[in-house]
Amino acid sequence: MASSEEFLEHFIYFHKRLRPPSKWEWIVLHHSKTKDGKTVSWGAIRRFHTKVRGWASIGYHFGIELLRDQYEILLGRSLLMDGAHCKEKGLNRNGIGICLVGDFDIAPPPEEQLELALKLCEWLCVEFEIPPSRVIGHGEAAPWKTCPGLKFPLEEFRTRLAERLDERLDLRGGRKA
Ligand SMILES: [Zn+2]
Repeated sequence: MASSEEFLEHFIYFHKRLRPPSKWEWIVLHHSKTKDGKTVSWGAIRRFHTKVRGWASIGYHFGIELLRDQYEILLGRSLLMDGAHCKEKGLNRNGIGICLVGDFDIAPPPEEQLELALKLCEWLCVEFEIPPSRVIGHGEAAPWKTCPGLKFPLEEFRTRLAERLDERLDLRGGRKA
């Protein structure tokens, strides 16, 4: 299901109030690379996680996929539920899982997709008071994995996210962290 930005903001706001905000302390980024190297769709990931693995819902909390001609943020499992995306370091319990659909071992994500991931992380960081340093790639918790891809610009992503969060603080007259 594609989601409007307004709906997503309400979705995050609503979930934050139902669950203690201290619960989500990390954001873990993934890509959808499959073993055969094919890019799969959000629907296919959902079916695989629920029908094949038998999980209650798709493992990630959010997805970012190209739908027709533009990238969309897609809803995954409820933020009221633990994730099923990163068992390493217990991050299923306190890490929000975001999957960018694509294979970034081969090429970096397109700017449009990165930009939408930044926007989503910006909302989540503000709502759950997560610092950019706690936005990590799956492989940073599980070094034997390349997820979210060898070509994914993780350091650049955190830097850009920190800049956006600084700008927000400036707009509110707050101090820079
Ligand atoms: Zn992963």
